[in-house]
Amino acid sequence: MPQMLFLGTGFSSGVPEGNCACEVCEKARDMSSPFFRTRSSVLIEHDGKNILIDAGTDFRFQTIKHNVRKIDAVLITHAHEDHIGGIPDLRGFSSTWGNDPALSMYCRQQEINALKRRFGYIFDENVTSTKPKFGVKTIEPGKPFDVFGLTVTPMLVSHPPEDAFGFRINDLAYIPDAKTIPSESMKLLQGIKTLVILGNSDESYPKQMSIFEAAEIAKTLKAERVFFTHIGHRVQRNKADQTLPPHMKLAFDGLKIDF
Ligand SMILES: [Zn+2]
Ligand SMILES: [Zn+2]
Repeated sequence: MPQMLFLGTGFSSGVPEGNCACEVCEKARDMSSPFFRTRSSVLIEHDGKNILIDAGTDFRFQTIKHNVRKIDAVLITHAHEDHIGGIPDLRGFSSTWGNDPALSMYCRQQEINALKRRFGYIFDENVTSTKPKFGVKTIEPGKPFDVFGLTVTPMLVSHPPEDAFGFRINDLAYIPDAKTIPSESMKLLQGIKTLVILGNSDESYPKQMSIFEAAEIAKTLKAERVFFTHIGHRVQRNKADQTLPPHMKLAFDGLKIDF
């Protein structure tokens, strides 16, 4: 049975946020507390393989904290810094220096283009420094693909001014960053049992839905278990999580679930 390890469950700034001195951020300064949240990422453990979704700004720290010793594939939801900022550190898991096989990276062409702009040296054959070695496989919305025997279905979610991917794997869907979910993607989500979705804030933002809007989507989908990730400091500060039904919980860094 696949397992999902939450490497990070924080929104784009993480928690604590910068120099914020709110009650939640003060508690989060204890890095062993569940209030401390690194940028959102998960590791799917399946059949001895480790499949990473997103490598954000805190990626290297997360691999040390959670004792991740190998990564066999990486999937990218979208090319925002909090989801790709740690891409260079994947060289610790497959690099041009050794004889490592290339690390399979599944994403859209537009993410590749963004990665080339952001980390040009990684894709520049003239640069000979040690860097991660990727075998890029482009994927398209609504078209399932296989990763080590797991069927993954990518779906578009709106994330203005662009869009991003969520992924369905078996009866679980992972949607860490979105404003709305288009109807075609809602169709792809029918029948899920576990929904992992953003709980960014108690407020609705131009790029992100609120935790309440996310809870409504979970209700529409009749998800049996809901775990919120991509969580900002406002959620617990304003006790938004305490208004949710018992089957909807905030994930925390280090949480592991079967699915
Ligand atoms: Zn994000
Ligand atoms: Zn984003």
